[in-house]
Amino acid sequence: MPIQDKQNDYLNLLNDLKIDCTNCSGLCCVALYCSKVDGFPENKEAGIPCQHLQSNFQCDMHQDLSRKNMKGCMTYECFGAGQKVTQMYGLDHTWQTHPQQRQHIFETFLVVFQLHQMLWYLIQASTLDACAKFKQEIARLIEEATTLTTKKPYTLLSYDIDHYRNQVNKILKCIIEQISKSSNNQNKMYLGKSFKGKNLDHQDFSMSLLIAANLENCSLRGTNFLSADLRDANFKNTDLRESLFLTQMQINSAKGNHNTLLPSYLTQPCTWL
Ligand code: SF4
Ligand code: SF4
Repeated sequence: MPIQDKQNDYLNLLNDLKIDCTNCSGLCCVALYCSKVDGFPENKEAGIPCQHLQSNFQCDMHQDLSRKNMKGCMTYECFGAGQKVTQMYGLDHTWQTHPQQRQHIFETFLVVFQLHQMLWYLIQASTLDACAKFKQEIARLIEEATTLTTKKPYTLLSYDIDHYRNQVNKILKCIIEQISKSSNNQNKMYLGKSFKGKNLDHQDFSMSLLIAANLENCSLRGTNFLSADLRDANFKNTDLRESLFLTQMQINSAKGNHNTLLPSYLTQPCTWL
């Protein structure tokens, strides 16, 4: 397939990695552990439905999440794993209708979540000119994960996801070394630090703690945010269109305003407006 066609396919695939809660059986609100400290309404174990999840899989406090400061609920994104797994089993075959299979459904959700998350990063990596020499390997890994997510749940659950993750991590590490100013950036703690107005082009913030850091008006071209913790980081009046490896969940947890510019594949959280 010509490279351009492949790239278009990947961009379409990014759309499939966006959440569609209307076609989901509320999996995140059941399958995952939640805690009040993380901005959920209650502490609950994984596998127990949140008390606010209704039988039609809608949240009974959806309109109040912002007013009640339920940051965990407002921030969470499943990379499209929720609707994917719900459709995989069928809407007439959910954790509600088939309680004896709920564990199986939740485990499938967690595997698809991980595959979709890695796909998200691989697709972004595939767009980087500096990574031309890795393109073939990236394409192979994307193909493997997308094919896998079309299989039956029992095939998915027997897959060696740790082995796949190791391959993805290895290639992402090589890419980060290639694109970052400093590949030996050991300092990952920037809690509350002010970078206001600084030029941070091509900085490597992967895996960094940037909680409540001030990045207002910074230049962030080619800046790598892979798996950085951006809770309450301030991106007001900042252009993030050329920043790398951002996810919707990171953006949902950060602060911005109507002057914050995002890559086309991300959406402005309603709390910014
Ligand atoms: S699992 Fe995903 S699609 Fe389903 S309700 Fe949660 S965020 Fe929405
Ligand atoms: S409050 Fe609503 S969105 Fe949050 S976990 Fe419960 S059901 Fe889900």
